[in-house]
Amino acid sequence: MEETREALEFDVLFVGGGPANLAGAIHLMNLAQQAGKEIEVCLIEKAESIGSHSLSGAIMDPVALKELMPDYLDKGCPIETAECRDEFYYLTPTGKLKVPYTPGYMHNDGCHIISLSKYCAWLGEQAEALGVMVFPGFAGTEILYDGDRVIGIRTGDKGVDKDGNKRPNFEPGVDLMAKVTVFGEGPKGSLLRELGKKLGIFDGKMPQVFETAVKEVIEIPESSPFVASKTTVLHSFGYPLGLNTKGGGFLYKMKDNRVALGFVVGLEYENPLLEPYQAFLNFKKHPLIAGIIAGGKVLQQGAKTLPAGGYYSMPRLAVDGALIVGDSASMLNIQRLKGVHTATKSGMLGAETIMAALESDDYSAETLGSYQQKIDDSWIKKELFAARNFGQALSQKGFGKFITIGAQYLTGGRGLTDPMPIEEDSASLKKVSDAAAAEVPAEVQNLDGKLYLDKLTGLYLSGTTHEENQPCHLVIPDTNLCVTDCYENYRCPCTLFCPAQVYELEEESDGTKRIKLNPSNCLHCKTCEIKDPYKNIVWTCPEGGGGPKYSIV
Ligand code: SF4
Repeated sequence: MEETREALEFDVLFVGGGPANLAGAIHLMNLAQQAGKEIEVCLIEKAESIGSHSLSGAIMDPVALKELMPDYLDKGCPIETAECRDEFYYLTPTGKLKVPYTPGYMHNDGCHIISLSKYCAWLGEQAEALGVMVFPGFAGTEILYDGDRVIGIRTGDKGVDKDGNKRPNFEPGVDLMAKVTVFGEGPKGSLLRELGKKLGIFDGKMPQVFETAVKEVIEIPESSPFVASKTTVLHSFGYPLGLNTKGGGFLYKMKDNRVALGFVVGLEYENPLLEPYQAFLNFKKHPLIAGIIAGGKVLQQGAKTLPAGGYYSMPRLAVDGALIVGDSASMLNIQRLKGVHTATKSGMLGAETIMAALESDDYSAETLGSYQQKIDDSWIKKELFAARNFGQALSQKGFGKFITIGAQYLTGGRGLTDPMPIEEDSASLKKVSDAAAAEVPAEVQNLDGKLYLDKLTGLYLSGTTHEENQPCHLVIPDTNLCVTDCYENYRCPCTLFCPAQVYELEEESDGTKRIKLNPSNCLHCKTCEIKDPYKNIVWTCPEGGGGPKYSIV
């Protein structure tokens, strides 16, 4: 029998509580107030609280925030470090070379270092103060349609056991109906995947590609020379990935003797035995970094993917009844290593589009499609277009990448080939039989559990929890494939690229292998769905409120 569900109606529904949607909701309330119009706006977020699934670098260019809220400092915006002074290094296994010249786009003058989780929590408070109904702990699990028109979303049922039966605390999900639904789920959104299948929003675009970042906030001794140093931002490339695999490290100064330390790996890497978490540890043990953090203690750890496809990977941004904003729309500027400003601006332009739609009571793809024009007329397009081939250039092997990047720099982003092609991240792994491609990276030893952590200790410091007795949210349609083709060809790379030890390969005494899942460990980073070479992992939303509890990363 069909479940009786509550249905709630709003003018506008924002799905996801990241910077794009929060900025969109705030701007929309401001516009409605200015127009003397009363509107009902709802924002849902799958995390337990706003900000607790938000993690990024994060150096924020406040250009969009200044437009959204010119008095953001007076309103208590949580800034870790107001000014950025950059250094950029090429690392060898034990040495470093300070890069004497960095292009303009790498400079962070006028930018702030923030904690994205704190920042989003603060934006959530601002949104609520303006009358937005903010509901954390609710995961959108299904898009509701009338024909091809999006009319809202259904939240996931709560209180279902792992076999699919109702527990005593069962609560059916709620249908949240809206004239306009705004998808701001972050990278690789699970609802957006379904929207893509039904309405073809990714058709004709370059593939969506991603990078995975592991990040920590570390408290370092007050006596550390870095505390007194004027340098606040340090970026690196080279070791431990070398020049054939895209990625690099960052270290940012925060308040209270803290630093944000992270390492990013481009998911188009080829070596099936590469483990992004190990790369992070190798980077952390490099003398340049180890010297800065010596005597420190990790306070929080997390991992997340970021969209790296840029302009050519942007999906169709509007359909009947819905818009797509921020990282979900691949709006991160990979050249500047920044996406909070573009996300914020996209949310604001979305809000302006919605306001016009509310005025005319027309929510068609045609009317909402003016959002694309607004993006194209804004500095978002200018920035992203200048970087349209940058990620691809960075993926070139060896020093040749610098010729390609230089050519792009001199030609406003066009470079030697425009557009430079992109391959899906799931297609790039070489087989383990290709010995050169499958070199085993050095594993970092002597983890002390305080400054150098194994995956499970790091996971503990992410605060991740899930209801244990619920259906597994990681769907593997063919588990046999894992221990046959995937093991033979790639040695089950999910056991390596997952930063939370969710996937483990077990072997019986008779040699039978099986993949064991620990879904409760999941950090919601989405790396597995992106990188699995057989596309045999589908990430679905677990019960709302589960996942990491980031508060300072
Ligand atoms: Fe990330 Fe997938 Fe591992 Fe979850 S299971 S932490 S989404 S790689």
